[in-house]
Amino acid sequence: MGSFNLKAIVRENIGKLKPYSSARDEFSGEAAIFLDANESPYNSPLNRYPDPHQRELKAALAPIKKVNVEQIFLGNGSDEAIDLIIRAFCEPGVDNIIVPDPSYGMYHVCADINNVQTKFVKLNSNFTLNADEIIHQIDKHTKVIFICSPNNPTGNQFKRTEILKIINHFNGIVVIDEAYIDFSEKPGFLSELSNFPNLMVLQTFSKSWAMAGIRLGLAFASAEIIDILSKIKYPYNINQLTLNYALDRIKNYETERLIWLKLIIEEKKRMQHELQNLKFVKEVFPSDANFWLVKIENATEVYNKLVMNGIVVRNRNNVTLCENCLRFTVGSTDENNKLLNSLEEIMVMRERHG
Ligand SMILES: *Cc1c(COP(=O)(O)O)cnc(C)c1O
Repeated sequence: MGSFNLKAIVRENIGKLKPYSSARDEFSGEAAIFLDANESPYNSPLNRYPDPHQRELKAALAPIKKVNVEQIFLGNGSDEAIDLIIRAFCEPGVDNIIVPDPSYGMYHVCADINNVQTKFVKLNSNFTLNADEIIHQIDKHTKVIFICSPNNPTGNQFKRTEILKIINHFNGIVVIDEAYIDFSEKPGFLSELSNFPNLMVLQTFSKSWAMAGIRLGLAFASAEIIDILSKIKYPYNINQLTLNYALDRIKNYETERLIWLKLIIEEKKRMQHELQNLKFVKEVFPSDANFWLVKIENATEVYNKLVMNGIVVRNRNNVTLCENCLRFTVGSTDENNKLLNSLEEIMVMRERHG
């Protein structure tokens, strides 16, 4: 175990980069007339470029997340943060990332786009993290380890001690993707940020916040790491409509969000039982997220029949350790009942036709 040195792991060209300075960066006082950014004078207020630093939204988020404003990066979905992390730290054709398998597909896709190698480390057969093997796979070109917890598509949250072991052993960046943390009863890693200078946490407005359509993702890390991401993002990566909408939801609809969250968690518990009672369901894996991974006889056939009934689920049959598995998102009570009815119907038909 050595020590983490941010300057040593950031790509040299990124370390030296002088970022684009926007009109709104160069002026930050009060003014009545803005003739600095070649905007149209018409169609107020959307004629203006949005705040490139998203100060108002970050100020609203900081107390909710119990972090400092400087520890927040906002992206066009967390997918933007994933891409920027790889671009900031991984030299194309040289460096690599480590990703547990199975996990969220975007880490590998973003790495591929950037010509960065992905080293996959298989989860144990019960979907737990193999921290020792991940540590064993680290080499001098490993810059980032992505750990999705609760994990997509398996649904389980990894053991805290295993994740801490990796953070402690690695001198590169460890990214914990907590897209599903609000559905879990166990705590995440946001409160650990000040303890680990190499830790990043990703969250998103797309799942528990119910705003996938506005494309807003969050990354949390030390102010130094956040500065690097901010330097390389598009200047106006979060548009004004998204900023307005997110601020309004945060300020005025928190009660509604919590009610929705509770409904989803209740439905999840109910459906867990219902699904387990279906004869051709082999296993409903425990989930800390808003979906279940379900092992089912002839999953692809069931998938196709569900599609014919107008119900789309995720077929994970071809994913490592997920043979004959489908992933069901928790929907509304009505949607879930339709799924159940459809599954029962498929089961009856199958028994009839052998
Ligand atoms: C859904 C999901 C996200 C969210 O991505 P956005 O770009 O913010 O919509 C991130 N990570 C994982 C693992 C996910 O499943």
